[in-house]
Amino acid sequence: MSGQGVRVQDLVRPEILAGSPYQVADARGLLKLDAMEAPAGLPAGLEADWQARVAGLDWHRYPDSQASALKAALREQFAIDDRLGLLLGNGSDEIIQMLTLALARHGASLMTPEPGFAIYKVAARNAGMDYHALPLDEQDFSLDLDRALAEMERLRPALIFIANPNNPTGNAFSPDQLQAIADAAPGLVVVDEAYFPHTDIHCLDRAGRPANLAVMRTLSKAGMAGLRLGWLVADPAWIDALERLRMPYNINVLTQAAARFALENGDWWRSQAELVREERARLYQRLQGLDGVHVWPSEANFLLLRVADAPTVHARMKAAGVLVKCLDGAHPALSGCLRLTVGSPADNEILFEALAAAIR
Ligand code: PMP
Repeated sequence: MSGQGVRVQDLVRPEILAGSPYQVADARGLLKLDAMEAPAGLPAGLEADWQARVAGLDWHRYPDSQASALKAALREQFAIDDRLGLLLGNGSDEIIQMLTLALARHGASLMTPEPGFAIYKVAARNAGMDYHALPLDEQDFSLDLDRALAEMERLRPALIFIANPNNPTGNAFSPDQLQAIADAAPGLVVVDEAYFPHTDIHCLDRAGRPANLAVMRTLSKAGMAGLRLGWLVADPAWIDALERLRMPYNINVLTQAAARFALENGDWWRSQAELVREERARLYQRLQGLDGVHVWPSEANFLLLRVADAPTVHARMKAAGVLVKCLDGAHPALSGCLRLTVGSPADNEILFEALAAAIR
């Protein structure tokens, strides 16, 4: 068969064709509280400075492949130990992809708690890794350490992702538990701290101890989802290996410049994250007072709740102009669940009113 007779289904791997493209909801005209974005970006007071910085960029040149200045800024801002390696990605999504590509030997598997972040499974499938879910407690989404250790022993995963705090459940596991998992793991354990701005529970100071414990972060939930910058902190031997499959210019000129600018002017996004934490507490309390709503505590910038008829509540909220995420059907433990991003005080007022009206 050649030329006209070439068929997609004969050549593309069946597991790729069996999947579907990742769907992002159309949020045009809606208050967008479905994807854990921060309520605001760069404050007006900094815009002129940023524009001056953009004006000086060399668009005709490739970006610095090593992103040296940006890495130095990240190391300083987050006090990353000089003895550890640092890998940058076009969002942490790209780092997840690099990790799965690097570790996808025949029969290698990825293990992660469920309910969890959907992209781990997508990346495992795309790279050709086997995928194993580690079920969390269905009431409080806690991790049973003995069960985790037993499953690791049984399945010997090459790669374990643990989002901490976890998405979409919002709870954080104890760093000691994660340490115990890394100590016993037969593979690389990546603690995904995408929600680091919204919690005091961090493992960054444990990265590289043991050598198979890595920590991943992103600017996305800190008010810079549009920049697409994630980073992995790990023992240098892991970073060396991953650098071999990183595409040379994965962090573009604009992202490098914008991320450096954001790190130099860190106050706005840190104070915004503080405000979101206060708002999370306020919204949690108000939601607890609503009949017919069960809301879980959260260490992230979103709240998970259960209502009697989530698809209807979701549709009514959307009709009222508010977009949240409906998780009903995404996982058995999430039946009736909605996930709401915590926004500004004004956003949360609109959100609360729309929800209260939708469950009536
Ligand atoms: N990890 C977790 C746990 C997330 O929830 C998300 C975003 N929803 C990401 C990673 C993706 O981050 P990024 O925008 O850096 O690709």
